Amino acid sequence: METVELSVVVPCLNEERMLLRLHEALTHDLAAITSDFEVLFIDDGSQDDSVALMRKINQLDPRFRFLALSRNFGKEAAMLAGLSQATGRAVAIMDADLQHPPALLSKMLPLLDMGYDQVVARRTRKGDAAARSLVARLYYRVFNRLIEVDIQDGVGDFRILSQRAVRALLSLGEYNRFSKGLFSWIGFDTAVVDYDNVERGAGESKWRFSDLVNYGIDGVLSFNARPLRMAIHLGAFVTLVAFAYAAFVVVDALIGGNPVDGYVTIICAILGFGGVQLIMLGVIGEYLGRIYYETKRRPHFLVKESSGDASTPVTTALGPAHDENRSSE
Ligand code: UDP
Ligand code: MG
Repeated sequence: METVELSVVVPCLNEERMLLRLHEALTHDLAAITSDFEVLFIDDGSQDDSVALMRKINQLDPRFRFLALSRNFGKEAAMLAGLSQATGRAVAIMDADLQHPPALLSKMLPLLDMGYDQVVARRTRKGDAAARSLVARLYYRVFNRLIEVDIQDGVGDFRILSQRAVRALLSLGEYNRFSKGLFSWIGFDTAVVDYDNVERGAGESKWRFSDLVNYGIDGVLSFNARPLRMAIHLGAFVTLVAFAYAAFVVVDALIGGNPVDGYVTIICAILGFGGVQLIMLGVIGEYLGRIYYETKRRPHFLVKESSGDASTPVTTALGPAHDENRSSE
């Protein structure tokens, strides 16, 4: 298999307005780093003309390969698809909207050569909506208490990985992929490069606030069973309080002999316990749902078209056999 110095994986969803600009920016910035690079656009089921543009760019410049997934599988799956096809000695991942400045790669790559396996770009939150950055900051604080892998605020998917880090990521076959956690879970020496926040080049963010909340819940649940443990603690605490109160009521009834008292308390107790139980059921249900999805063992993505040859597999499941699935031009 032919390898290149640097592969750049770019997941794209409805990025027709960015692709040509991205091509221009990447050709310019990557040429300053190495002449031996490839770019992999992964079309994640775009509804616009992204694929047509990718085809065109590929014809003009075969260093820009592409892979079109059969539908929208989500950014995590798109990145995975890119990593599974990348042939580079170093593999970079970046967004299509130029929020991840390609020029920064020239600062990041030398660190990889110094022996780091991951070089991550950390963005400052300058220019972010105040509410979003506050929530994010709070989230990471709570998150890092909850889970066993360490995740930093401002560190996203923009990073360069060594070949063995890529192999490590590909060996994690789980269906629910929370890459921030996975990147941290695989370990290896990691270097950090700071950059300033950049506005999206064109189009709009695919993340709504509710997506971010769900992403947050995913993050906590996919990395440990601690919420289940917390449910036990909370349950024990509530039970203790309930026993103490029951003792009080019994004694009160024995002394005062007034069994009809306490309507308000009963209502409060029923509603309170009902709520707690529902939340706990929800937590357990979430884990159960995850197990359900994992047991299906479906492929993480399906490929509909690629710039390469016919050898690109229609489905790509991960696992040891996956190396044979790599396409090379
Ligand atoms: N993206 C994708 N699939 C999705 C959602 C997003 O491939 O289902 C891509 C998108 O095209 C972009 C990157 O992921 O290249 C980041 O998306 P976006 O800019 O919407 O996220 P934000 O920067 O607001 O976090
Ligand atoms: Mg963006």
